[in-house]
Parts: sequence; C-alpha cells; structure tokens
Amino acid sequence: HGQSKLVGRFAPTPSGRMHLGNIYASLLAWLSIRSANGTLLLRIEDLDERTRSGPWTSLLLDDLRWLGLYWEGEPVFQHDREELYRNAVERLTAAGLTYPCFCTRAELHAASAPHASDGTPVYAGTCRNLTPAEVAARSAVRPPATRLRVPACESPEGTISFADRVFGRQRQILALDCGDFLIRRSDGVFAYQLAVVVDDAAMKVNEIVRGCDLLSSTPRQIYLQRLLGYDEPRYGHIPLLLASDGRRLAKRDHDLDMGELRQRFGTAEHLLGWVAHLAGITPDDKPRSAEELVAFFSWDKLREHHENIVIRRASL
Ligand code: GLU
Repeated sequence: HGQSKLVGRFAPTPSGRMHLGNIYASLLAWLSIRSANGTLLLRIEDLDERTRSGPWTSLLLDDLRWLGLYWEGEPVFQHDREELYRNAVERLTAAGLTYPCFCTRAELHAASAPHASDGTPVYAGTCRNLTPAEVAARSAVRPPATRLRVPACESPEGTISFADRVFGRQRQILALDCGDFLIRRSDGVFAYQLAVVVDDAAMKVNEIVRGCDLLSSTPRQIYLQRLLGYDEPRYGHIPLLLASDGRRLAKRDHDLDMGELRQRFGTAEHLLGWVAHLAGITPDDKPRSAEELVAFFSWDKLREHHENIVIRRASL
C-alpha cells in the first residue's frame, strides 16, 4: 500500500442497539486506523427499510461518541446512495454479466445444491439460461431479482485468493463456493455484497476490519471490485464473540448491549479497557482514554488470538 493514507470505516447496520461484539469490532477498526495515522469514516448500512425506522441510528451515533471512537466528516447513509448502486448494476448488466432471477425462497431451497462454507446454498442456476420469451412471461407474474454470473469453475478469473491479515491466505472458487449471487433483491433492494463494494470504492476505503463472519463474503466482493475496476482494499477479519452456548452474540443479548454495558462499566475507559483485553491488548496501567490503547495495538497480537472468544457473563 506504499505511501497512500489509510482510510478505514465503521459500517454498522442499525438493526438494534450496539452490543459487545460490535464494540469489539469498532474498537479494533478504530485502533488499526489510529495506529497508522489514517482516517476513519462512518457509513450507516440502512439499505433495508426495516433498519430506517426506530431509534437505532441515533443510539448508534451516541454510543460511538460515548466510547470516544470518533470518525471523520458526516456519516454516509446507504439509503441516500441508490443511484450509485443502480449505476453499478447497469454497468454489470451492459457487460452481459447479470440475469433476472425469478426463483422464490421455496424454489431456492428445493433446488439447493451443496452448501457453501458459510451455509448459503450454492445457486443451482435455474434462471441462468432463460430465453427472452421466458423472461417476459415470468416478469408479468412477479418482478425478478438480479443475479451476477460467476465464471465456470475451470476459468482462472473465477478463483479468488487474498491474504487476510489475521486468517492468512484464503481461496474460493466462486462457481463451487457460492455460484451466481444476488446483487439486487426482487423487492428492488440492492444486495449487501454490491452496496458494500460500491461504497467502499466511492469512499476510497483501503482498509477493512470486520468480523470473520464476513470472511466467506470477501471473495464475492473482490470479484465485484475486479469487474467494476476498483482497487482491492486490505482485509483483516477478526474473531467473533460468542455466547457461552457457542452461538454468536447478537442484538437479542440485551444484557450485553450498550444500554446495559454503559451502566455496568460507568465509563468508556473501563469498558474499552475490558474489551481491548479480549484482543490481547493489555496496557500496564488502566487506560484513561481510547487514545491510550493505540500504542498497544498490533496485528501480530490479533493473529495470535484468532480463535473466537466466548463471553461468560459472570466475568463482566
Ligand atoms: N454492515 C455490516 C454489519 O453490520 C458490516 C459490513 C462490512 O463491514 O462489510 O455486519
């Protein structure tokens, strides 16, 4: 990455109050950028209508400010950016790389080929070769989703490799690991995979730090970057925080959400010090601000601690 300034981002989805897992990911994204003197941006991932109502966005901004994890400039809202996503889909369509897909959820399930590494079924290709007449007939019944064609498995462009800063060398053969994937849903909402790639490029993001639940999405995103002519950011996927029964912490774990944690810890320094500890960041003295943790951050430590972390409530 040479001399270019690092640009990272927070990219939260406002579907509930920030919880411990989000704090952990946000802190590491912030520390990585701060330790390299880069810039951190904030993008609210509110593509889905359901995330736009409710108090979540304003609570999110308030919680990040309370934590002292600051960002540069005004937050960017995905709901303002449909024009950008539409242009990208049009470019892909003009290049003959997309097709309309009429499969219902039930049909997808019935035709489901072997499952990809993250549990998403590999698309069976049902709508891949419809004739124009078939497309017209089906469009009269219901609006289609849009799928991106991935190269045949023997084609070199369809094998995507990248070096993750925590998990090391990753490799997927798109045709086998995910198949043709959605870039727009049938209700018109642009898919996460497309929006995230378009936005990161438009915001000049060149460093992505996020949970390892997205590790298996990254090859699809890199493939889209290549088709659209964007630079590839550097990726660091970080372990997930798990509840003691082994499932990942979720918004429904209310006792670990920011409302509760702010009360329990009292100050941001206490909470951040405790969260930093989970990532192997252990300053000698108790930190008095997030800023004091910056000097102790390193990717080497994260590599050493790359198993998922089980949170026992009793330890809080
Ligand atoms: N908005 C996604 C989430 O909250 C993160 C997307 C990303 O970091 O690429 O899980």
